[in-house]
Amino acid sequence: MQPWRPNRRAFLGTLSGLALGSLARRSFAQSSARVVVVGGGFAGATCARELQRTGLEVVLIEASPTYVACPLSNLVLASLRDLRSQEFGFDALRQQGITIVQETAERVEPAARRIFLSDGSDLSYDRLVLAPGIDLRFDALPGYDRAAAENMPHAWKAGPQTELLHAHLREMQDGGTVVMSVPPNPYRCPPGPYERASLIAHYLKTHKPRSKILVLDAKDMFSKQRLFQAAWRKLYPDLLEYVPLAEGGKVVSVDPASKTVTTDFGEYKADVANIIPPQQAGRIAHVAGVADRTGWCPIDPVTFESTLQRNIHVIGDAAIGGAMPKSAFTANAQAKCCAAAVASLIRGEQPPAPKLINTCYSLVAPDYGISVAGIYHPANGLLSEVAGAGGISPLDAPDSFRALEATYAMAWFDTITHEVFG
Ligand SMILES: Cc1cc2nc3c(=O)[nH]c(=O)nc-3n(C[C@H](O)[C@H](O)[C@H](O)COP(=O)(O)OP(=O)(O)OC[C@H]3O[C@@H](n4cnc5c(N)ncnc54)[C@H](O)[C@@H]3O)c2cc1C
Repeated sequence: MQPWRPNRRAFLGTLSGLALGSLARRSFAQSSARVVVVGGGFAGATCARELQRTGLEVVLIEASPTYVACPLSNLVLASLRDLRSQEFGFDALRQQGITIVQETAERVEPAARRIFLSDGSDLSYDRLVLAPGIDLRFDALPGYDRAAAENMPHAWKAGPQTELLHAHLREMQDGGTVVMSVPPNPYRCPPGPYERASLIAHYLKTHKPRSKILVLDAKDMFSKQRLFQAAWRKLYPDLLEYVPLAEGGKVVSVDPASKTVTTDFGEYKADVANIIPPQQAGRIAHVAGVADRTGWCPIDPVTFESTLQRNIHVIGDAAIGGAMPKSAFTANAQAKCCAAAVASLIRGEQPPAPKLINTCYSLVAPDYGISVAGIYHPANGLLSEVAGAGGISPLDAPDSFRALEATYAMAWFDTITHEVFG
């Protein structure tokens, strides 16, 4: 079976009632409704696969031929993993019968239920699922624009930025200072910056022991804080310095030319600077009209349908997930619930309220893992935590327990990437 690739001619053919390709007609005959999914990350790829299994026609629009996964990318920075191990293709999705269009979705007309792509073509949909992930806000931190990211990499989208920050760390002289800036909530992967600080500290300890990492944080509290801070005291006492908001940690501007980072309390000159700027939902969510003034997308927690535009669902990092953190685990869980809800709605049925799980592993060293797990359900219009149902690694666990959790972290990544892309 040839894959059907929508183009302007096919669209005009539909409009005028002329024949589309025979394949397109066949897929319409097989299925009464078409769902278009934008974004082939943990959220979008999962959702497309689940939707296709229900018998719906599914078109996945993904800008890139290869997906580069962020989880475990902090190991790449510490020279403990190759970036190639983070890369995944879409062949398994194609083989499953999903039509994949490698273009950028540029615009949506919600009233007409049409989506417009970068090659000039457009597609109609019965329901649209947006899973575009995040955009970095290059207007939010004075001095930090796209060009600044070349000198002060964010590495918050895995790929060339990860390699750039890794190269900066490798090139730094022993005795240098790494300065890292952590944004206020909400942002992609709440514990991610602290895992990164830990693994950079591990890299310095093993390769450049006279060096230091300074973590400047725009907040006072963070995910798995007590576990991280206990581990830092044990593993990196003289290497890692953490400055919370209350002690002047909030970065207010940067100067990429001199690699200077300024807070309300002072200036820090970095040999390597890692600036993680504030974030928002990916651009298509804004042009589709599903993002609100927060920059993120409000959703119905049962169906993941946008509360701003009918027939458009938003999942993964772009959505306002209530108590659910923005993680790959969350994205995958939301995608499954959203796919089931979309299939129910298309059948004219009311979807049941879902229960979702998130588990987030962090590596403080290659053999030292910690985790947090939560269960969530719709309550008061949001995804809320089911009280008492989650858990966190014990504070006083022995080294063998930490080592076991590190193996769970690696196994989790293999399992989820196999499920989504394998
Ligand atoms: C350093 C780091 C470590 C992390 N560690 C973990 C971890 O240990 N565990 C965990 O669960 N999570 C972790 N995360 C978080 C996780 O990576 C994200 O939460 C997850 O990737 C979100 O998935 P998503 O599908 O919503 O977005 P993404 O993964 O960003 O996927 C979005 C996709 O949409 C495509 N796209 C966007 N706009 C368009 C458009 N207009 N047209 C076509 N395609 C488009 C993009 O090309 C991309 O492929 C980490 C993140 C970072 C940065």
